[in-house]
Amino acid sequence: MQTVSDTQPRCSFCCSTALQLKLGPVSRHGEKYSVYFCPECRIGITWPRPDGQTLARLYAPGEYRADQGKRFIAPIEFLFELHKKWLIWRISSSMNSGRMLDVGCGSGFLASLFAGAGWDVTGVERDDDTAIHARETYRIAVVTDIDDARGPFDLIMVNHVLEHLDDPLRMLEKSRELLAPGGKLIIAVPNFSSLQAMVGGAGWFHLDMPFHLYHFSEQGLVGLLHKAGFSVVESSHADWIQNIYGWLQSLLNRVGISHNALYDLLRMKGRGISVSAWISLLCCLWAVPLAMFGICIERVCRTGGVVRCSAVVSDEKREILK
Ligand SMILES: [Zn+2]
Repeated sequence: MQTVSDTQPRCSFCCSTALQLKLGPVSRHGEKYSVYFCPECRIGITWPRPDGQTLARLYAPGEYRADQGKRFIAPIEFLFELHKKWLIWRISSSMNSGRMLDVGCGSGFLASLFAGAGWDVTGVERDDDTAIHARETYRIAVVTDIDDARGPFDLIMVNHVLEHLDDPLRMLEKSRELLAPGGKLIIAVPNFSSLQAMVGGAGWFHLDMPFHLYHFSEQGLVGLLHKAGFSVVESSHADWIQNIYGWLQSLLNRVGISHNALYDLLRMKGRGISVSAWISLLCCLWAVPLAMFGICIERVCRTGGVVRCSAVVSDEKREILK
């Protein structure tokens, strides 16, 4: 394992410079990026860190999200909808509805489902146009900065958002301040220590550099939550869409198919992909049973491609805040 010198990347959380080069450099979106991992915090960082101009270009409308916040062809959007309804059913079966904050609400669809289940919902979406779309389409309250959210909230959801943020710890601390007494934070991130991440390497689908600025292991996420004043009450790797697709696309990437070609097809970019690419993908149906096998191993070993934690304000933090 290579160790970087003082002139190289520094951990955002403990300031250590003794980081390990885990993978890269790999070419993504016209630049070369690597993952450096802090063995103390168990969290990786994307390096070099893309500047504001680069991020603005990457997140431009039509690039990261298609119009109206929908990114995929109709059958995939339907599967996402089913998954989100299942998630809400699980949450609603363990707690009463109340005030809920959806951090990184995007088009507002998940938030609207919570509203339909009886929750009083506020969304946070930093992209102005997407926030307007969410307000106008679903009639939900949306702010563009978490600092503008007015708590307290009984539930805060941070679903596949933390890895995109410049300062994840600050966002977690802000979430803690906004939680009502007895409130719950539910947070999900890709699992950098998963089996599919190990097998996929630089081709792991959920690596998604440079959109993902951080790469969390389960230990890393739990540690950061603790640092922000939370205590984790439950963690799981159950996310069947992200886990299955993570395996499938990572295997295809691994054998040298054009990077994320299937993903681009499913994102309605099919017109930009040649007939031969379509044929190549059809020839890769072998990856489906392998992906299912990978899912089974991950389930047994508890190393799924996603880690989801439920957390409450820790007793120590509650004592300090009294
Ligand atoms: Zn660190």
